[in-house]
Amino acid sequence: MPKETGLYDVLGLSPSCTPDELKKAYRKLALKYHPDKNPNEGEKFKQISFAYEVLSNPEKREIYDKYGEQGLKEGGGGGGGGFHSPMDIFEMFFGGGMGGRGRRERRGKDIVHQLSVTLGELYKGCTRKLALQKNVVCSKCEGRGGKKGATQKCVRCRGSGMQVRIQQLAPGMVQQIQSVCHDCSGQGEVIDAKDKCKNCEGKKIIREKKILEVHVDPGMVDGQKITFSGEGDQEPGLEPGDIIIVLDEKEHAMYKRVDRSDLLTVMDLELVEALCGFQKVLKTLDDRNLVLTCIPGENIKQDRLKCIYNEGMPHYKNPMEKGKLIIKFNVKFPDVINPALIPQLEACLPPRTEEMIPGDAEEVMLQDFDPEIHRRQQRAQRPTYDDSDDEGGAGPRGVQCPTQ
Ligand SMILES: [Zn+2]
Ligand SMILES: [Zn+2]
Repeated sequence: MPKETGLYDVLGLSPSCTPDELKKAYRKLALKYHPDKNPNEGEKFKQISFAYEVLSNPEKREIYDKYGEQGLKEGGGGGGGGFHSPMDIFEMFFGGGMGGRGRRERRGKDIVHQLSVTLGELYKGCTRKLALQKNVVCSKCEGRGGKKGATQKCVRCRGSGMQVRIQQLAPGMVQQIQSVCHDCSGQGEVIDAKDKCKNCEGKKIIREKKILEVHVDPGMVDGQKITFSGEGDQEPGLEPGDIIIVLDEKEHAMYKRVDRSDLLTVMDLELVEALCGFQKVLKTLDDRNLVLTCIPGENIKQDRLKCIYNEGMPHYKNPMEKGKLIIKFNVKFPDVINPALIPQLEACLPPRTEEMIPGDAEEVMLQDFDPEIHRRQQRAQRPTYDDSDDEGGAGPRGVQCPTQ
């Protein structure tokens, strides 16, 4: 049991989550709360990034589980001390191309966009049109922001784009605080109002709507990236960034994808079908009908698994090859059986084993038991001061309390 669970809570996960679940949770939340999409949720974006950074690193996760957030602050002895900025983590996670840091600095921003697709679309493949907003260098002024020669070095920051303020922390102790220059918004240069380009209002770039055609190939997986090189934000004098589409697989009512290329479905069987054979029709993700036959007497037990080869998900880039379609059987017992027919039923089934009942055995009542209702009753009865055994559950084998 970890000391605290705050970082797991931020990502909506339980402390037992797997690395895959962690990645998926970060992916969804980071895209939702990225400042580009949700400028007012900066704090949330920071929390998500921090939680992911800690929990995705086995050493840091162990420290956190043992000592909580305080432990992370005090730690750092393990070599992996420092933490990254939320944007760095985002770029490391989603970064397109070869994305070495040095290279990225000289490029426009990547645009990351999530695309929801159904399992059927991932099975058959599909083409989706996507409308995006992106920054394009203004064509009127060719990215200068105004008339030729109208740009002047910003007086306030002397062209650096940054302002440095000195703050005194204590006598003899000062701190330098750097911030983006107000006059030029960090550009280092200004254009006189009358010389500004009318098209872009001196911003050098304009927002443009872009329609993308995204080809989703059969067999693609949840979280897979489709990169449109050089289609991202443009900035004057820089290489444009990429548009990165991240696929998000929607849950399917009937099929669950397992191990990339297998599909799992649960099939209900009546008891008579489980014992006496059946024929059932199963609709595939591309709307074909498969007939499944089970011969009488095979006796399908609860949770029994069977599979059909080459009816699972297509392999990516080799869609003629498919994985397995796995069927898990759920046997439904009848609610009632006519007591008059029970002797006939009994005659069909293997005989009971004779039970020896000792002479001093006690007759008891069997009652229905619902753990959930029982737990609620217990909680209501328990005196409020006694919450010492609420957690942990490591009581003396829980003999007196069957709920734990
Ligand atoms: Zn300035
Ligand atoms: Zn312009």
